[in-house]
Amino acid sequence: MDIEKIIYKLYEENNATREELLYLLDNIDEKSRELLVNLAHKTRMKYYGNKVYVRGLIELTSYCKKDCKYCGLRRNNKNAQRYRLTKEEVLECVRKGDKLGYKTFVMQGGEDAYFTDEIMVDIIKSIKKEFPDNAITLSLGERSYESYKKMFDAGADRYLLRHESASKELYEDIHTNESFEYRRECLKNLKEIGYQTGAGFMVGIPNQTNEDLVNDFLFVKEFEPAMCGIGPFIPHKDTPLRDYPHGSLEKTITCLAIVRLLLPKVLLPATTALSSIDKTGRDQGIKAGGNVIMPNLSPMGVRKNYSLYDNKAYILDEDAEYRKMIGEKIESLGFEIETTRGDNPDFRK
Ligand code: SAM
Ligand code: SF4
Repeated sequence: MDIEKIIYKLYEENNATREELLYLLDNIDEKSRELLVNLAHKTRMKYYGNKVYVRGLIELTSYCKKDCKYCGLRRNNKNAQRYRLTKEEVLECVRKGDKLGYKTFVMQGGEDAYFTDEIMVDIIKSIKKEFPDNAITLSLGERSYESYKKMFDAGADRYLLRHESASKELYEDIHTNESFEYRRECLKNLKEIGYQTGAGFMVGIPNQTNEDLVNDFLFVKEFEPAMCGIGPFIPHKDTPLRDYPHGSLEKTITCLAIVRLLLPKVLLPATTALSSIDKTGRDQGIKAGGNVIMPNLSPMGVRKNYSLYDNKAYILDEDAEYRKMIGEKIESLGFEIETTRGDNPDFRK
């Protein structure tokens, strides 16, 4: 097989076979990565131009009933500091974000039974009442079809639920007693209900092979999510995976570029995790086809308690200063911050 041919096929046909994707991951070197990244950038320019979309991230709760082996919020982490935001605190974050030009708010949190459908519907409706033109993204984990539907009917537009890994064995290895099939059913339900749905996966999970990553590529190609969150695994000191190394920058960039070529119109964040392993991570992610960033809007006092992994980047940057810094940074890279809702062009509610 010829690696350049595979990369051009990805660029021209937005597709590749399992064998080709595996060959690409197994044999990629600096020169072929550069070609891959350049073609991913070209593809992004074709569909989105040089725009980078911003989403204000509100970390709603650090309580979680699940026990994912990699995450600092897992229920068995007795050192975790737990908090919940009130509706008024959420509204304050939203007002601050709107002023900074963020027209999408992402409410993310652990799976916290306190946030019942009733409470979420009330928060969603209150945000939409004040900001009817802004988009609401939820990322609250696995819930029932009825729950997703109620929140959608209340006005939520998008839902992020990473599939985490498309290999059943690896998924079950890092999620003890959780159902691989149910997570996928949730993703299917979200799409069916009408959410712009985001899947995604971590790169460098302990024991992850290139075959596992190819499973991720083939899964997202088939599922066609509107968004795809890809970031490196980073260890957290109070989890069972504390002693493993973080996922590599190069491999995460490779995965971002491949997903941009497989799904040319996908909304692809340059994640905070990527910035956390390397200070050029976000910039490299944007240059490899990434077109979304998610600045933190959470109240300053709780930020260090939303601790998914160690050494999280930018947690204590002041919002207005961060907004200015990020605008200048993005411009210096030849891109532009876009302050509209930034929907996937194939999805309009
Ligand atoms: N609880 C919801 C869920 O799991 O879907 C949403 C919040 S969860 C903290 C958001 C994402 O953080 C997860 O999908 C996971 O991929 C990522 N994450 C958690 N721990 C991580 C770690 N140690 N390194 C990198 N990413 C991590
Ligand atoms: Fe909870 Fe999400 Fe962390 Fe898993 S990844 S422990 S569901 S917050």
